[in-house]
Amino acid sequence: MATSDRTWRPGTRAAHAGRANDPCVAAPLIEPLYQSTVFRFESVAQIDAVYAGQAPGHVYYRMGTPNTSALEACVADLEGGEAAVAAASGMGAISSLLLALAEQGDHLVADRHVYGGTFSLLSVDLARLGIAVSLVDVDDLAEVEAAIRSNTRALLLETLTNPTLRVGDLPELCRLGRARGIPVVVDNTFTTPCLVRPLEFGADLVCHSLAKYLGGHSGGMGGIVVGKKGLIDAVRAKIVHFGASLGPFDAWMVGQGLPTLALRMRAHCENALTVARFLEQQPAVSRVLYPGLTSHPRHDLAARLFSGGFGGMVSFSLKGGRSSAERFLEALDLIAFAPSLADVTTTISYPIATSHRGLPESALAAMDVDEGLLRLSVGIEHVDDIIADLSAAL
Ligand code: PLP
Repeated sequence: MATSDRTWRPGTRAAHAGRANDPCVAAPLIEPLYQSTVFRFESVAQIDAVYAGQAPGHVYYRMGTPNTSALEACVADLEGGEAAVAAASGMGAISSLLLALAEQGDHLVADRHVYGGTFSLLSVDLARLGIAVSLVDVDDLAEVEAAIRSNTRALLLETLTNPTLRVGDLPELCRLGRARGIPVVVDNTFTTPCLVRPLEFGADLVCHSLAKYLGGHSGGMGGIVVGKKGLIDAVRAKIVHFGASLGPFDAWMVGQGLPTLALRMRAHCENALTVARFLEQQPAVSRVLYPGLTSHPRHDLAARLFSGGFGGMVSFSLKGGRSSAERFLEALDLIAFAPSLADVTTTISYPIATSHRGLPESALAAMDVDEGLLRLSVGIEHVDDIIADLSAAL
């Protein structure tokens, strides 16, 4: 019955405004936003069926929403995985998945070149929970193998490391994980399933920060984990218990970016290669890190692993260290100094002051993050405008 047909008093009518659940007269072209923290049920039998997965539907925001489910289905499909679970952020996804795999007394092996936030989680927070971590160089398979113990529960790496853009031998690392019975977890944030699908090489779980290329427009936050249903259910349980769930609006925002992912990645990759080649010629630049350059130590491996390009991230060091980096950032005009990445516009970050801020000197040295290192996220603008801005600032 419509609210207007009821005999309710004004206060009751106001409280129920907008809750009529009127059916749409036609299907919307794009996914609607279901910004409701809870769903209503006609009976206990109906809610039982939804909880048991025997009927479609959602119960409560923290446990999943139509928008998060739609996003999970899309990203699982893109990565070629059985199932996916979204989280409030990339870190929400990574911490939940690691706590699903390991408990007190267990051990993890991880690449020491991973994103600073992941590095801190591994080296500070997990240690406090009694989970030991060996930080290794995944380029060195012997070092990885030697680090594995009887209680090792996961091997964690990034397809392209943030910010030094190193490339691990994914097939070999997955083979090693398989042989030793250790789940291999791959952060595919920098490459996306358009360039590489780690599950095809035998990885067990793939994760992303959704705020990066999958969303692509710096509007929606989130994280996601993809893999076999059993493992994803275990990660989902942690996300729900810790309250690290993704809200519908952010899921919807990220979902608006996905249709253009392949087009954007093509443009990011093309522009980044041109920019990397330009930077390599600049006298003020001491090194350029980009897997598409033949000077990159793992260029051949990257060419085998990645299809359609080498990603949109280019890191480079300025000869003058911190003072040069600071002056350079202030001199840029088109390119924003903004400590995230993968936006459609070109942005730049300064790792020692942002993503790797506060890490001990020894960790920065081990990660090869120096005071002159800048991390450029090359956008999809006309490449001549990007180069003109870099050139003027240099
Ligand atoms: N993984 C990588 C490779 C990242 O670059 C980031 C953030 O920059 C994260 C994970 C963490 O994601 P979020 O910021 O969404 O928590």
